[in-house]
Amino acid sequence: MRESISNSGIDPNRIDRRARSVLGRLRSAGYDAWIVGGAVRDLLLGRRPKDFDVATDALPEEICSVFARARIVGRRFKIVHVVHGRHVTEVSTYRTSHDKDQAKVASSFEELRGQARVVSTDGVILRDNAWGNQQEDALRRDFTINAFYYDPFNDDLIDFCSGYADLRSRSLRLIGNPEARFIEDPVRILRALRISAKLGLSIERHTASAMRTCKDMIEKVSPRRKYDECVKLLMNGHAEKSWNLAEDFGLIDLLFPTSSPRDSTLIHKALQNTDHRVSDNRPVTFAFLLSVVYFSGYQLALERQDESESFDLRHTQAGNDALNELRGAMAIPRYASMFVRDVWALQSRLESCKRAQKTLALERFRAGYDLLHLRAETGSVDSALHDWWQAFQESSGVSQPPNVRKRRYARTSYRRTGTR
Ligand code: ATP
Ligand code: MG
Repeated sequence: MRESISNSGIDPNRIDRRARSVLGRLRSAGYDAWIVGGAVRDLLLGRRPKDFDVATDALPEEICSVFARARIVGRRFKIVHVVHGRHVTEVSTYRTSHDKDQAKVASSFEELRGQARVVSTDGVILRDNAWGNQQEDALRRDFTINAFYYDPFNDDLIDFCSGYADLRSRSLRLIGNPEARFIEDPVRILRALRISAKLGLSIERHTASAMRTCKDMIEKVSPRRKYDECVKLLMNGHAEKSWNLAEDFGLIDLLFPTSSPRDSTLIHKALQNTDHRVSDNRPVTFAFLLSVVYFSGYQLALERQDESESFDLRHTQAGNDALNELRGAMAIPRYASMFVRDVWALQSRLESCKRAQKTLALERFRAGYDLLHLRAETGSVDSALHDWWQAFQESSGVSQPPNVRKRRYARTSYRRTGTR
């Protein structure tokens, strides 16, 4: 089972110097320590790793005693952050595979206290802090290609799960029984989408079929973790591919539920745009994508409002209606929902061209303008309007407003007939 791969092709010099130093210090203190996870996988694929994670047999408290600046983080999954300046190396202690029979079943928060291994009544892992050896640690990881251990000092690569063969055949395979592993942590379904999209790997047949069977378990993931995973899924430079995969697996309705028809053309434009920005190293905002995904819901909600009310009131109410649908699926941080509301409110200001100078000075002008741009590209708003705002910015606000045919604000091409 334990296979040592010689001539792996990894250049030991590509291991981050801080991760290397963490390894060296732990080993000098008498512990076992290896580079694990995505970094080894990425190096084997000739890609630059995002981060370098370390696994060790030292317990969290023991890790902390080796480093002057280290702190234990996480409760569900305790790890240690070793800090060097502004950089953090994540160090995790070897764990055993999750044995359901040995785990405590908890139905309330109180029952979690002081327990190393706890599952919910649905079988979802709530605490995963039962320590083990290196082989057990490999088996509790998610995919075979994420379970390598690399030692840069001796250029030694260990593979417990036939990950090397899977990597060569470009296959993404969950370790163990896929259904059981997705049930104990449904986030692995989202990780499968992300890793497959990012690395261009095909999802192995049994893994893919279990993803379909277990997809509804996504609802059991904590709302905050779901939000964080969706950020990773769509902000990693492969948003469109990830979205398409999520759609293929029937996950979009679970992640982004809505009772309004989605404007798929607009959404795809935004996803492509996000991917281009990531590849150009320009900043991207998940909240902007949310504003696009829920824009049609917002527009329809705005149409339903009583026209005798002020725009501010109608906008607030419509924003609540649209965002509440998303809130049914995940926790949205306050700054993100504020961002989304501001981008939506800007659409009517941008369409009216009134108080243009003030609009230009608004904090979210750029994001609002970006949405207007996408709408102009899909034909749901007159492109003369976008052109005018572009000229207005370039001329620092001296252009005449465009002669755009006035249309009702919320009228869009994708509205279902008979919804009023
Ligand atoms: P990335 O390039 O996005 O960092 P990664 O695979 O390194 O990808 P991390 O979230 O950094 O992802 O996790 C590090 C490692 O921890 C993974 O490679 C995997 O071995 C393990 N892991 C992470 N999440 C899970 C999970 N939900 N279940 C089992 N193992 C996991
Ligand atoms: Mg990683």
